[in-house]
Amino acid sequence: MNLKVLKKAELARENSYSPYSKFRVGAALLLANGDIFTGCNIEASSYSMTCCAERVALFKAISEGNNEFKAIAIVGGFDDINKPCMPCGACRQVMAEFCPPDFKIILKNNDGFEEYTLSELLPKGFLLK
Ligand SMILES: [Zn+2]
Repeated sequence: MNLKVLKKAELARENSYSPYSKFRVGAALLLANGDIFTGCNIEASSYSMTCCAERVALFKAISEGNNEFKAIAIVGGFDDINKPCMPCGACRQVMAEFCPPDFKIILKNNDGFEEYTLSELLPKGFLLK
């Protein structure tokens, strides 16, 4: 399953709109029901309007009424996409809002993939609830 979602992330990366940074990212979000939503990073001339691939995938799924998430695969980089592309702090915070602590974050690397839990990447995160 990890390799399947990684492949989806890799395909989503092809749609990346990143003319300014040239850093292309794709993400594939695995739902509890087995569905997969994908996202890519989308930049704008006003850099602060940029949205990461991970949040695009999450927002697409949430906007269609989904709220049970198991894992996200992330593939990104300039040219070398086998170097793990860690999710940024903003994406980790959004994951903490919608995903359980054992939510899996799967990153492509030279050996295939490496895997973390959300609680490993965002220990003691901020939550109002
Ligand atoms: Zn991010």
